[in-house]
Amino acid sequence: MKPYQKITKDIIQKLVDILGEKGVSTDPDRLVQYERDEGVEREFFRTPDAVVYPTTAEDVAAVLQLANTENIPVIPRGAGTGLEFGAVANTYGGIILSTEKMNRILEVNGEKMYMVVEPGVRTADVQAAAKAQGLLYAGDPCSGDSCFIGGNASTNAGGNRAVRYGTTRDQIYSIEVVTPLGQITRLGSRLKKVSTGYPLEKIVIGSEGTLGIITKLVLKLVPLPKYSVNVLAIFKTIDDAMSIVNALPKAGIEPTCLEFMDNDSVRVTEKFLGEKQPHSDIGNYMIIQVDSNDEDRIDDLCVALDELCHDHGAIDVFVADAERIWKVRKNFSEASTTDSPIMVMEDFVVPADELADLLKELEKISADQKTPVRSVAHAGDGNLHLDILKKDIPDDQWPAKVEAFEKAAYDAVYRLGGRISGEHGIGEKRKNLMAHYTDPVELALMKAVKKAFDPNDILNPGKIFDVE
Ligand SMILES: Cc1cc2nc3c(=O)[nH]c(=O)nc-3n(C[C@H](O)[C@H](O)[C@H](O)COP(=O)(O)OP(=O)(O)OC[C@H]3O[C@@H](n4cnc5c(N)ncnc54)[C@H](O)[C@@H]3O)c2cc1C
Repeated sequence: MKPYQKITKDIIQKLVDILGEKGVSTDPDRLVQYERDEGVEREFFRTPDAVVYPTTAEDVAAVLQLANTENIPVIPRGAGTGLEFGAVANTYGGIILSTEKMNRILEVNGEKMYMVVEPGVRTADVQAAAKAQGLLYAGDPCSGDSCFIGGNASTNAGGNRAVRYGTTRDQIYSIEVVTPLGQITRLGSRLKKVSTGYPLEKIVIGSEGTLGIITKLVLKLVPLPKYSVNVLAIFKTIDDAMSIVNALPKAGIEPTCLEFMDNDSVRVTEKFLGEKQPHSDIGNYMIIQVDSNDEDRIDDLCVALDELCHDHGAIDVFVADAERIWKVRKNFSEASTTDSPIMVMEDFVVPADELADLLKELEKISADQKTPVRSVAHAGDGNLHLDILKKDIPDDQWPAKVEAFEKAAYDAVYRLGGRISGEHGIGEKRKNLMAHYTDPVELALMKAVKKAFDPNDILNPGKIFDVE
């Protein structure tokens, strides 16, 4: 482990000289608010040594320059809704650099369909600003009411509309970045095509704050579809529900969202919300959103979906109230942690056409190992959030149970051509898995990229992998 410098009073004074008194905090009551993100594993909680609140790219650059001179880690942070402890200090300690004061929408250009924002704007506010101009910002993570757009870019967040519009990387034209050495640069451009060197913005996006701090984003906007319908198809078996993942594209139906909830997830969310849900006794849900500018086309799609889902074993198919059904889907995560405070949430991703096979394998592993699980999925993306639940498993058996389940599960995921994380990232929590499952050549190239950007290993060190 690289020895870093402890943060002294002298260094705090230098930070105050850059950012002013209000831009720096070492108040223990404040620091404790940054000891975690939305991950629940206490072993990763760690209080930082200081938190800084820059308001400009120049502030961020000055902090990073100081950090390089003084040899101190800097951990970028958005809203802290991540689940992998990427925005939390680790054993290296260091300064949390919060983007919460860089929260302005700088321009919404309805004519040219783009928006310029700072990283600390809430995703829901980005969506609302686009909507006010009759446009759509297509990124839509379930945490949209609280997460920041800079955090979305840094994790390459997915979410509900990724099946149609792609992940956050696909919603961004360009970014302003402060490099780990403290230089300000712009990566990417508002072009439809470009073959001018390496597309560096593509690797900074999704690098979980290890290759640069994003200080400005130019986002793509698309026309807001005129008509939108949410069909709820309810299936008795997971197998039947999953069979529509491959059937929809074959039938020429391109959903905007295709979200799966298994029966236990439906029940636990029903209990959490205190609102009766249809067929919650046996139903596995598929929420299928389709959009169009043509009203007749929407009617045709509803008829086609009704037929297709019934052909694939649905016990009920109907047009759902959008607000009501998305409330169920978006509250699942909180409902599940409320019901089972001790659990491990996975973010498996496989090719979408392998998701049914993955679920079958996981069901078998769960039964064989007597480890209870429940799952929801961004099914159209092959991205499965499976919660491994402690329930009645004795404390002393729990870690070994999780390890055994994960070993069998990740082996299945990789056999099916998948990866550890579809959208949450690796952070601090999954770096051992990353080291184990990643091809050594690929991992060595990633470390070489990190060294090229960050020769002193100052920016979010020890996240995704350890450089040495
Ligand atoms: C209830 C719930 C639902 C969720 N649903 C989804 C979902 O549908 N899809 C999905 O993808 N994720 C989801 N997440 C996970 C999380 O919300 C996303 O990963 C989100 O993108 C994190 O944004 P944030 O602003 O909270 O980032 P943080 O948690 O603060 O940080 C995340 C990572 O980004 C880095 N970072 C943050 N800002 C910057 C910046 N400006 N420059 C450089 N690095 C930066 C941090 O260092 C860290 O590594 C969910 C989480 C919860 C709790």
